[in-house]
Amino acid sequence: MSKRDYYEVLGVDRGADEKEIKKAYRRIAMKYHPDRNPDAPDAEDKFKEASEAYEILSDSEKRAAYDQFGHAGVDPQMGAGAGGFQGSFSDIFGDVFGDIFGGGGGGRARGGPQRGADLRYTLDISLEDAVKGATVKIRVPTLVTCGTCDGSGARHGTSARTCTTCGGLGQVRMQQGFFQVQQTCPDCRGKGKIIDDPCPDCYGRGRIEETKTLSVKVPPGVDTGDRIRLTGEGEAGPEGGPPGDLYVQMSVQDHPIFERDGRHLYCEVPINFADAALGGELEVPTLEGRVKLKIPAETQTGKLFRLRGKGVKPVRGGPEGDLMCRVVVETPVNLSKKQKELLDEFKATMSGSGDKHSPRQSSWFEGVKNFFDDMKI
Ligand SMILES: [Zn+2]
Ligand SMILES: [Zn+2]
Repeated sequence: MSKRDYYEVLGVDRGADEKEIKKAYRRIAMKYHPDRNPDAPDAEDKFKEASEAYEILSDSEKRAAYDQFGHAGVDPQMGAGAGGFQGSFSDIFGDVFGDIFGGGGGGRARGGPQRGADLRYTLDISLEDAVKGATVKIRVPTLVTCGTCDGSGARHGTSARTCTTCGGLGQVRMQQGFFQVQQTCPDCRGKGKIIDDPCPDCYGRGRIEETKTLSVKVPPGVDTGDRIRLTGEGEAGPEGGPPGDLYVQMSVQDHPIFERDGRHLYCEVPINFADAALGGELEVPTLEGRVKLKIPAETQTGKLFRLRGKGVKPVRGGPEGDLMCRVVVETPVNLSKKQKELLDEFKATMSGSGDKHSPRQSSWFEGVKNFFDDMKI
């Protein structure tokens, strides 16, 4: 199913600031909130659609990824991770409605387990893979929830107890003269819980280091700097909290033949001076194989030949770029005696007719001559 543009969903323009986005979302969410529309089955879909759009556009990093990549840049389906938007749904809700609906859920976000950190991974890929797309396996060192204790940090079969010093708040009040000072509980170090019998595998931390092998689907047309988000593939949260995301950043390697500039490719094609003078047909490389390129007679060094559509199809859509072949005339080397004689003979035919056969050289000489003439004055 194709998704609607997030800006369109919220009815804001692409330059909308944080406030406008929040306001637009609040208006739509109020209108379609499932609790207010028990008899309208599509209200919930509209509400979810708006929530998803808000989740992306209210987060500057996600918004940038979306602006750059479209849905492919932020779609949770791109990653192997499960959960998608459900994970942070309540957070958005609390953020926007905290001040309207108030009461009930106060402090909900603070009390819950913390989300794990996002990770960044730089993926070096070949130009071919960047242009055609590829599925790449990567190995990412990360923290995963300890399976032995399920992230609790307590030995299997036991559980953490509430800290009696702070009553589970993680903070204690101390009287200092006239003042009451709040500080981190010294017994549980702010956690509110104490593990008497730590899990032997994670030493009570609830997470263990592990190198995960992940499969990254690189869409065709990516370029250096593009990012792919793998939802839920970041670090596991402490104490069983939800995982962060993994951002895979593309770094396209240099290619021995092609140089890339956005959607266009460039390559240099050396030709011998006989072909340059007489014209001929060359075989030039493209990413899809060899193609023939006709060189007209009297081709000069530096001349660009454009092969339309042989460049890169950009990942964010738009037409395919071109391949630009820059011709460089190569001076012959390792000449045989015979070849030298032929060139001498050829040279003799050129003498005294510079204007005709080497117009650029003659006009250059003319310029140099004028330069020295002016200097004498
Ligand atoms: Zn453990
Ligand atoms: Zn405590």
